[in-house]
Amino acid sequence: MNTKTPPNKNSAPAPASHFIRSIVEHDLAAGKWAARRWAGTPGPASVQAQAALDPAAIRTRFPPEPNGYLHFGHAKSICLNFGLARDFGGVCHMRFDDTNPEKEEQAYVDSIIDAVRWLGFDWTYAGSEHLYYASDYFDFMFTAAEYLVQQGLAYVDQQSADDMRVRRGTLTTPGEDSPWRERPAAESLRLLNEMRAGLHAEGSMVLRARIDMRSPNMNLRDPAIYRIRKAPHHRTGDAWNVYPMYTFAHPIEDALECITHSICTLEFEDQRPFYDWLLNHLADGGLLTRPLPQQYEFARLNLSNTVLSKRRLIQLVDEHHVSGWDDPRLPTLAGGRRRGYTPEGFRLFAERIGVSKANQWIDLSVLEDCMREHLNDIAPRRVAVLDPIKLVIENWPEDLEVRCDAPNHPQHPDWGKRSMPMTRELWIEREDFSLAPPKGYFRLFPGNAVRLRYGYVIECIGYDAATDTVRCKYFEDSRSGTPGSDNYKVKGNIHWVSVKHAYAATVRLYERLFRAEKPGEDGDYLNDLNPDSIHTITAQLEPALRDAPAEARFQFERHGYFVADQIESQAGAPVFNRTVTLRDAWQKT
Ligand code: ATP
Ligand code: MG
Repeated sequence: MNTKTPPNKNSAPAPASHFIRSIVEHDLAAGKWAARRWAGTPGPASVQAQAALDPAAIRTRFPPEPNGYLHFGHAKSICLNFGLARDFGGVCHMRFDDTNPEKEEQAYVDSIIDAVRWLGFDWTYAGSEHLYYASDYFDFMFTAAEYLVQQGLAYVDQQSADDMRVRRGTLTTPGEDSPWRERPAAESLRLLNEMRAGLHAEGSMVLRARIDMRSPNMNLRDPAIYRIRKAPHHRTGDAWNVYPMYTFAHPIEDALECITHSICTLEFEDQRPFYDWLLNHLADGGLLTRPLPQQYEFARLNLSNTVLSKRRLIQLVDEHHVSGWDDPRLPTLAGGRRRGYTPEGFRLFAERIGVSKANQWIDLSVLEDCMREHLNDIAPRRVAVLDPIKLVIENWPEDLEVRCDAPNHPQHPDWGKRSMPMTRELWIEREDFSLAPPKGYFRLFPGNAVRLRYGYVIECIGYDAATDTVRCKYFEDSRSGTPGSDNYKVKGNIHWVSVKHAYAATVRLYERLFRAEKPGEDGDYLNDLNPDSIHTITAQLEPALRDAPAEARFQFERHGYFVADQIESQAGAPVFNRTVTLRDAWQKT
């Protein structure tokens, strides 16, 4: 491993090994990237060739297109790319792949920056920021396209889209050359510049690489590399009438940024030959420096009972199947954050699922377990009654208030205790009382005694149907923590809050967004939506919760982990979302 101590602040748990990590280790041991230069800024050979050796051992990048919010799948890629850079003394560039003007917006750029930072990563290395935009490279990309034309490696094609499709052939039949394929370079160059100047209509012509219409790899059958789009771009405005295709732009972005390991998902495996074709030609022509970036592919994350595709997430939002991009049921990072998921939980998840070349589905419960593990450690304990029924202690004096101490966290005694007022009237869970108890029921029923957690032992003496109230008496010498409490042997232990002091809060409970494990497997994925994925209730909470700031996380004893909603909580009136239950209940239903 590299022995430099890099100024890279990103922190995370001890990394597990996987094939990409092995590649990086091998490359570093072999000194594969040792002679690379870096001018301190992205650029072509004219900028990099004379620069100093790159102090970063490797360069990776996270290159989202700003056409939507990031989802849990992106978290895997973020943890991988930023994690490798951190672990090997390198840097990960944050790069917006903004080559598609119609679909991209500044608002998405902002949300992506927020989400990556929230996950705990940054792009500062040795005191400088590595935040880049593909659109900043449009000039060089166009120069590279002109160079290819001059070399007879690209041509302007004026076939109709249909003709182009037909001539492309299929996986089993070779393609055929375009009638424009042999046009002189000078003519293509003139047309390319006219395209740029806006003299031709959208769709009337494209620039194609000139490779091999008979290649078994369809991606090498003269792929389109520039097309006409007269749409304003969120950063370059009206400057361009032509935009590069992703397959042309992406390798160039990597090369200009001196990326070493360009890591993408498996769908791009068949693009790798074009990636290498393009960069090698540009390096041969002296436009780029060697060593060139290398592309590696890994299996994308598929998560059960949800969808991880921006296109589908956009549809769910636009058609109001959810309340917005940050709906706590959505697998966006903004939604996960509102749900109460933690950055540490996501990083643990990324480590646990690993990185491989085999496409597989991960059960959502794996992610939930990671969240539970982290929340169990960091979430203070509180008491909440989600389905309240009133209980009156008939022998308790009207005005008596007793402060009962409850620990904030059983494994962190140093977090201290808070006190909860106990009074004559309490809220308890409806399921903790039964008039006709089933066998083995240890909670309240007429004639049975239970302990009120952190308080007294009470015995049920009846139920008043008119007021829906459980009637009890208490034993004065039974208080928890006093010598007399040992004389009472009861099996049930239930939680409660004082009616007089309780905070009646809006609490949202969530189920899976999709009923099907693999939404869309048998038809339209929208048919698999769970119609019952949210329950909004009014719960009675212990008074301390009234002051919970937005995004404060708690374990509500017996009910799971909850977070004060980031958006809707008001000072003194938080709204709570259930992040995850204490145990996995979904499997059993
Ligand atoms: P989508 O299909 O959801 O639109 P995308 O791949 O088009 O995703 P980009 O914005 O291009 O989205 O993705 C940025 C990076 O995140 C890419 O390097 C991509 O490989 C990675 N990525 C996207 N989805 C996943 C996923 N499900 N698992 C792992 N990595 C992913
Ligand atoms: Mg995409």
